[in-house]
Amino acid sequence: MSLAIETDGLTRRFGENTAVEDLTFGVDRGQVVALLGPNGAGKTTVVRMLACLIAPSSGKASVLGVETTGNENRIRQRVGILTERPGLLERLSAIQNLQFFARLYQVEDVAKRIEEYLRLLGLWEWRDSPVATFSKGMKQKVAVARALLHDPEVLFLDEPTTGLDVVTARSIRKLIERLRGEGRTLLLTTHNLDEAERLADRIVVLDRTLQAEGSPRELRRRLFLPRLRIDLLKMEPRWSDLARAVEGVRAVETADSALLCTVADPEKAAPQLVARLAAAGARIRAVKDERPPLEEIYLKILGKGDPEG
Ligand code: ATP
Repeated sequence: MSLAIETDGLTRRFGENTAVEDLTFGVDRGQVVALLGPNGAGKTTVVRMLACLIAPSSGKASVLGVETTGNENRIRQRVGILTERPGLLERLSAIQNLQFFARLYQVEDVAKRIEEYLRLLGLWEWRDSPVATFSKGMKQKVAVARALLHDPEVLFLDEPTTGLDVVTARSIRKLIERLRGEGRTLLLTTHNLDEAERLADRIVVLDRTLQAEGSPRELRRRLFLPRLRIDLLKMEPRWSDLARAVEGVRAVETADSALLCTVADPEKAAPQLVARLAAAGARIRAVKDERPPLEEIYLKILGKGDPEG
């Protein structure tokens, strides 16, 4: 079966400025992909090309096995998009907005779906109020519901939670999880790395060109050796020398009363470290596998990592 999203050498220029260059990546059906990158990296431009809002300057993209160029209407029927600005009709109510867009997209029998999404997003109570009276988060929710009206198989969400309060952002994240559970493919752009880590099966890091791609786990493995944290009751300088001498241990740092050991293989190194330290009289409180946060990985990919933190 074809991939949900596939690009090959995708490039977009705006005059002299190349916003996206030679981007090749693929997304399986049913996956959630987070597109990360600094401001101006080209994320929105990629989303707009995939959703057929703008054309590529060169290269190709396919969505659900259909090439975007020349099939814009066909693709628009099968994808939903949340753009950076909700773009709602301010004088109309939430329900009228959704009814209006449903008519525009020629979607029929939407009453049930509108009710379902407005209830799910906690807006049912306000369904008849003009959108002009809504907060930023409420408008964002209406825009999310609008993107779902035609039951799209693929969803593009451009910064779905940016600028929203914790509770509202959380309800949008819950909806994203639900949509993934329904087997839809989601591509979201975000500056929130915790969110990317929590929601995404794959991460694509873009900075005009592709910088890295993989699951958070793969990226971590590719860029960092595993690290074990050994908490001791009392730190003595000799413990780090002893740990350094254990086979497979590449580096040892100390933090308060913990040894931070970079190792080739934690499963092999942990028992040996524990045995050697205990035999020498160290009192061990805990041993943990330490995973560097996605932020560290992201900064390293972009060449902005600071090894001293
Ligand atoms: P942010 O995280 O700040 O939203 P982004 O990664 O989404 O950024 P884009 O909005 O895709 O980045 O912009 C990429 C580059 O393309 C920027 O240099 C931007 O100025 C330029 N650009 C985007 N749209 C246009 C346009 N319509 N006309 C001219 N330049 C554009």
